[in-house]
Amino acid sequence: MANVKKNPGPAIDPPPPLRRWFARHRRDLPWRRRHDLYGIWVSEVMLQQTRVETVVPYYRKFLVRFPSLRRLAAAPLQDVLKAWEGLGYYARARNLWQAARRIAETGHGRIPATIEGFRELPGVGEYIAAAVLSIGRGLAVPVLDGNVLRVVCRWQGIDGDVRREATRRRVRAFLERTMPAAEAGEFNEAMMELGALVCLPKAPLCRQCPLQRGCFACRHGRVGSLPVKGRKRPVPEYRVALALIRRRGKIFIQRRPENGHLGGLWEFPGGKCRQGEAPGAAVVRECREELGAEVQALEELAVVRHAYSHFKVVLHVFICRKTGGSLRTGQPHAWVKVQDLDRYPFPAANHKFFPKLKDHLDRISV
Ligand code: SF4
Repeated sequence: MANVKKNPGPAIDPPPPLRRWFARHRRDLPWRRRHDLYGIWVSEVMLQQTRVETVVPYYRKFLVRFPSLRRLAAAPLQDVLKAWEGLGYYARARNLWQAARRIAETGHGRIPATIEGFRELPGVGEYIAAAVLSIGRGLAVPVLDGNVLRVVCRWQGIDGDVRREATRRRVRAFLERTMPAAEAGEFNEAMMELGALVCLPKAPLCRQCPLQRGCFACRHGRVGSLPVKGRKRPVPEYRVALALIRRRGKIFIQRRPENGHLGGLWEFPGGKCRQGEAPGAAVVRECREELGAEVQALEELAVVRHAYSHFKVVLHVFICRKTGGSLRTGQPHAWVKVQDLDRYPFPAANHKFFPKLKDHLDRISV
């Protein structure tokens, strides 16, 4: 690219202004009032891919329901998933619960205080380990989340693709040189907070930024072009047909296998439509293949769109009646009244059609 200015050199004494800014502007968030590793860990798991405002009420509720690692480890997975319901990315909850059980069983209830030991637990990757142990134990390990990558790339004029490991290595090396060893946790929190409140993706508030004086992007008009992000692969979209099989005022539900996408949550039978297959035909075929049941699709109740991190779905939801065959399923299953569906954890996409299902069952006698 023409006229691209390169990184001018090492950073300019960041910690004092950053520290002062953070002391004045840090948000009063519930997890910042806790100093135990468990409380910090839960917050960092919830905050992955999720906005702070969304997390706060879930965090409060979760910590009331499971106030300690011991209480989390002793709870059934279904209760944990229910408390997580609506927050999405359920593998996070399952991994947290599995990690808590492992610590309770083999670690004498103590959360590992080293990066290596912590990372052996389910769901604990580079980010979680660095965030929890720097904030909770003061380990001098930089945190690399999207906010921090954006701040550093702009501040230091790093113009490699942030999705590439080589760029992340450069950012990590810079942070290792820059973070004050005695205040590593606070430095990490301040960088994340700066990215969340000031160095915004689209319109950063450079005039309010404590790093402005030494910021490469701000001085060289590169704010709009940094950080560099390679093109994302297009997200596939699937059409899925679901069967709400009703019988004497109840609906058939089954639990998904624990491992895998949305593992441990409850669902309705159904599956992906084949190429060129109408959803009404797909729902009949899926019930036959999945359950050995013959069903008749009486009515298309709803068409619902939902986006997951790596794909999108269009759910075609059918009210069905069983006309023959069995209802075989290798998974736990139940017939439930519609008003009792709330007792079971369901994927967020299903909640989008629950109000219509309730209206439908109010309208007709089943
Ligand atoms: S000066 Fe602007 S671009 Fe640079 S780090 Fe601060 S907010 Fe981001």
